[in-house]
Amino acid sequence: MTNLKSLTFQGLTDLVKRLKWEDYRVKQIFSWIWQKGISDINLMTNLAKPKREQLQKECYISALKLSDRKYAQDRAEKFLFTLEDNHNIESVFIPESTRKTVCVSTQVGCALDCKICYTGKMGFTRNLKFYEIADQVLQVQLLTGERISNVVFMGMGEPFLNYHECLKAIETINSDFGLNIGARKITVSTSGIIERIYDFADFPLQAKLAISLNAANAELRNELMPINNKYPLKELIKAVKYYVDKKKKRVTFEYVLIKGINDQPKDVKALVKLLMGISCKINLIPFNAYPKSKFLSPSIEEMQEFADKLYPELPAITIRKSRGSEILAACGQLAGKVSNM
Ligand code: SF4
Repeated sequence: MTNLKSLTFQGLTDLVKRLKWEDYRVKQIFSWIWQKGISDINLMTNLAKPKREQLQKECYISALKLSDRKYAQDRAEKFLFTLEDNHNIESVFIPESTRKTVCVSTQVGCALDCKICYTGKMGFTRNLKFYEIADQVLQVQLLTGERISNVVFMGMGEPFLNYHECLKAIETINSDFGLNIGARKITVSTSGIIERIYDFADFPLQAKLAISLNAANAELRNELMPINNKYPLKELIKAVKYYVDKKKKRVTFEYVLIKGINDQPKDVKALVKLLMGISCKINLIPFNAYPKSKFLSPSIEEMQEFADKLYPELPAITIRKSRGSEILAACGQLAGKVSNM
């Protein structure tokens, strides 16, 4: 049986051709799946009954299964979804006044073992398929009843180690007949897989790039993010400059602030030296403590103090509130909790 959701627009075009149906059926079926979110072929009412029966003989439509849903006081929500092979992934819904953002996972677990994140502790299980990534946006939209405006690839997994499926997911999320979310509203966050940053700069859609930086000197970054040993800061910055030049777009650097670790005057100096002259924005995020982590979260005053020190040299700074920390909103914590049970 073919899972219709697993077909890209082109894949569905090939199927419709093989069935010898009219070309416009592709758009109809694709929008039933990705806009109306149906998982029953029988609901495709603009397909005549014999066509639906023909499709049902060889196809079905999968949907992520909701296994848990947690609500935070600040209205953030965390969803635990179970995949067809019973692995769990999580997605976070972050509502703000005008923006409704979904943070999606791109892998089951992660191989990179960044010390700032709980997913790294789980190890790597497998890459998600493009439709399992895009379906997180669709299911959160259906479950919350809110039109999703923004998507960030910042959940479990390193998107650029699952590059091709992530690009197909972006195309589906962006497609007029898919979720129809503007490419500029889609951000992919990487720990710094350099080859893929160059590729992403050449990707025709205008999706945005964020770099999970977290340290501006090599020694500390090697420790916090072991991937820095393979892809050092100097090469990372070179790739980011290529992206900025090519796309004429600002890059976001995420900096998870850890009390007493990367919030010292020498860190301010190193950040300024590293990022000076690059068209960028810095997103300061408080470390979100997870079970058995040895790091501490900074207070809001400490975050502000760090931002103030950066401000004269690097003025584009935002302080991101930690959303929904009481519902284990830090990356990987809900799925980790289930797999540890
Ligand atoms: S921060 Fe991202 S890349 Fe690093 S271990 Fe966690 S999920 Fe993987």
